[in-house]
Amino acid sequence: MIVDVHTHFFRPELDFGSRLMADLARCGVNPAAWGDLRARHLATTKAADVAIVFGLQAAATGWNIPNEAVAAQVQSAPERLIFFASIDPARPGIEEELEHNHQELHCHGVKLAPIYQGVHPLDPRYRRIYAYCQQHKLPILIHMATTFSSGTPLEYARPAQIDQVAIDFPDLKIIMAHLGHPWEGETIAVIRRNPNVYADLSALYYRPWQFYNSMRLLVEYHAESKVLFGSDFPFTTTEDSLKGLRNLNAVLGASGLPPIAPQTIEDIIHRDALGLLGLPHPAKTEPLTGAATHGKEAEARAQAERPDPPRADSLPQERTS
Ligand SMILES: [Zn+2]
Repeated sequence: MIVDVHTHFFRPELDFGSRLMADLARCGVNPAAWGDLRARHLATTKAADVAIVFGLQAAATGWNIPNEAVAAQVQSAPERLIFFASIDPARPGIEEELEHNHQELHCHGVKLAPIYQGVHPLDPRYRRIYAYCQQHKLPILIHMATTFSSGTPLEYARPAQIDQVAIDFPDLKIIMAHLGHPWEGETIAVIRRNPNVYADLSALYYRPWQFYNSMRLLVEYHAESKVLFGSDFPFTTTEDSLKGLRNLNAVLGASGLPPIAPQTIEDIIHRDALGLLGLPHPAKTEPLTGAATHGKEAEARAQAERPDPPRADSLPQERTS
C-alpha cells in the first residue's frame, strides 16, 4: 500500500493573505496556475492508496485555510483521504480549536508549522498542542524545513528543536516534513534517536543532487526505515513524486558514485505509514454524520461565493516548499 502523507488543500483566491501572495509573486509562483485544486487533489492522490490532507492556519505569514474546507474535501473521498487539522498557536483558544477539530470535524492528526506560524517550536503554546495530541493519540506533521514565506525567524524551522519535543512527549508520533531541508543531517540525527519521530520525503526530488546526498546520509546512518513517502501537492503531484523518487539515481550519470538500492526506495514508497502512526485505514473508520455535514454545508456556501477557478495545464516552474 502507498500512503502519501503530505498533501495540501487550499483555495488561494479565498485563503491566501496579502503577505503570502507577495511572497509567492517574489518567488515567481502564480497560484492561478494550479488550476482547480479540488479536482486535481482528488485526481492526483489516486496515485497512492491513501493520502493525508491538511490546510494551514498561520496568520503570521498569511495562510488562512479553514479546517472545515479541508474536512469537506476529505469527505469527497472519505474511503482514501485522512484529515489533519491545522492549529495556529498564535491565536487564542488553542484547546477549543483542538477539541472542535477533533470531536466535531474528526481530524486524525494535526499539522503544525512553526516557521509559518511565527512561534518557536518549544513555546508553551505549542507544548499545549503536543500534550493534547499525545493524550489523544493524534500524530503531528510539523514543517521543520526552510520556506519561501518571509517575516519569521528561520531558527524556528531547525529540525534539531524537535529532539527536545520528542524527549518531553515520548509517546507523541511526529513526522518532520521535507526531511528538514536544507538541514537533512539534523533531521536524520533526530529521527534516528527518537523512536516515535519520522520524516517525510516530500518536495525533495526536484533538487536532485541534494536529494541524492540526503538519501546517502539516511542509508549511511541506517535511518531509512524512519522515512515516509509524501508529495507536497500542489507544489508537485503524487505521480511526479513517485517518479522522482524512483529516478533518484539518474543524477549520478557515469560518476561512479554509489546508487541508492532500488529496494530501499520501494521500501520507503510502500512503508506502512498508517501502522507506524497508529492511524486506521480511512475505509475502515466509521462514516461521519453531523460534523461532516456541517463542514460540507459551510464549504458549499464558500463555493457559491467564489469565482470560477482559473485553469492551467502546467505546474509553475519555481518550486517553493
Ligand atoms: Zn507542505
